[in-house]
Amino acid sequence: MKLSERVTSLTESATLALSVRAGRMRAEGVDIVSFGAGEPDFDTPEPIKRAAVEALRAGHTGYPKPTSGIPAAKQAVCTKLARDNNLTYVPEQVIVTAGGKMAIYLAIQALVEPGDEVILAAPYWVSFPEIVKLAGGKPVVVRGDEPRDYRLAPDQLAAAITPRTRAVILNSPSNPSGVTYSPKEVRALAEVLVERDLVVLSDETYEQLCFTQEGTLSYGAVSERAYAQALTINTASKSYAMTGWRIAYAAGPVELIAAMAKLQTQTTSGAATFTQHALVEALTGDQTQVGVMRAEFRRRGELMHAKLCAISGVRCPTPTGAFYCFPNVSAAYARLGVDGSKAFCERLLEEAHVAAVPGIAFGLDEHIRVSFATSPEQIEKGIERIARFLG
Ligand code: PLP
Repeated sequence: MKLSERVTSLTESATLALSVRAGRMRAEGVDIVSFGAGEPDFDTPEPIKRAAVEALRAGHTGYPKPTSGIPAAKQAVCTKLARDNNLTYVPEQVIVTAGGKMAIYLAIQALVEPGDEVILAAPYWVSFPEIVKLAGGKPVVVRGDEPRDYRLAPDQLAAAITPRTRAVILNSPSNPSGVTYSPKEVRALAEVLVERDLVVLSDETYEQLCFTQEGTLSYGAVSERAYAQALTINTASKSYAMTGWRIAYAAGPVELIAAMAKLQTQTTSGAATFTQHALVEALTGDQTQVGVMRAEFRRRGELMHAKLCAISGVRCPTPTGAFYCFPNVSAAYARLGVDGSKAFCERLLEEAHVAAVPGIAFGLDEHIRVSFATSPEQIEKGIERIARFLG
């Protein structure tokens, strides 16, 4: 069968082959420690589940009306963004989507012409460059400095901007590094960006799972000019342990939201109606459970980071959000005879029985991603195995 160039040129998930292999080994009875998870190991809080069940019982089983999101969900998004992020939006500026990935996909489809450039900071989330390429755009990858934990400096960002730059994607806290931009750093980036005619996609997926006292700052909350160029993207997936529900949202300029909504009418027809009712409960109900998960992830992150840093030759940014550590393990490549993170992760799985994600998937081949969305016991056991493997 002849498949489209669009799909054949798409990079397949680097994690897939390894997770299939890890699954097969586990089925054969091998005790695998998996650090591959990109989702919380918690269940969705009970009140959110109840809201979905009640919506189903109340007959909310038809198409979402309108396709861009039911009014109650849009209003809940406005309430949340005003409460937590100091962002004032009206429902007309909001779209509800089937997952944050869809929100990013729709935004890029709405903005990018073939040949247009979209700036990404490495390490980047795996889907960003592929989504840009699907629109015919060119991902422009900017690599920050390791001593700054790869956070972009304003001059690095400025140097990457060209007349073809249509958008910049910021992701704080970051998947895969767990690194967060401080409010001061967000303001410094905005100083460079507000002068330019471009859109800033602020991916705030892990915003609620930020461990620093000062927290992070939504790009759109920096100033009026930053607000005018910001698309604020967030999802229920990680904060509310709802990855399987496929429910997220974006808020921004009316014309961009309207364009994304138009695309949504011809693609998914929107997020499932009863999950939108659950989103209302997630965003406006009791937030206690989010705090419980955040505290637990923070404890586990500290444990994993300390254990990784105790291994000779390993350097690791301090995770200040999300649930990932991103250690640089490249000091061991020559001795192990591996040519990069993919071969490293294959050997790690075969010989140490630990599943991790190669950093090459995120643009940095010296690193691996290890998720602490698993129990402290598994973290202890897995990092000890890595230490022995590297020792
Ligand atoms: N953005 C980042 C940085 C992510 O890590 C993820 C999921 O892993 C998403 C967006 C999309 O999440 P979802 O599509 O589950 O809402």
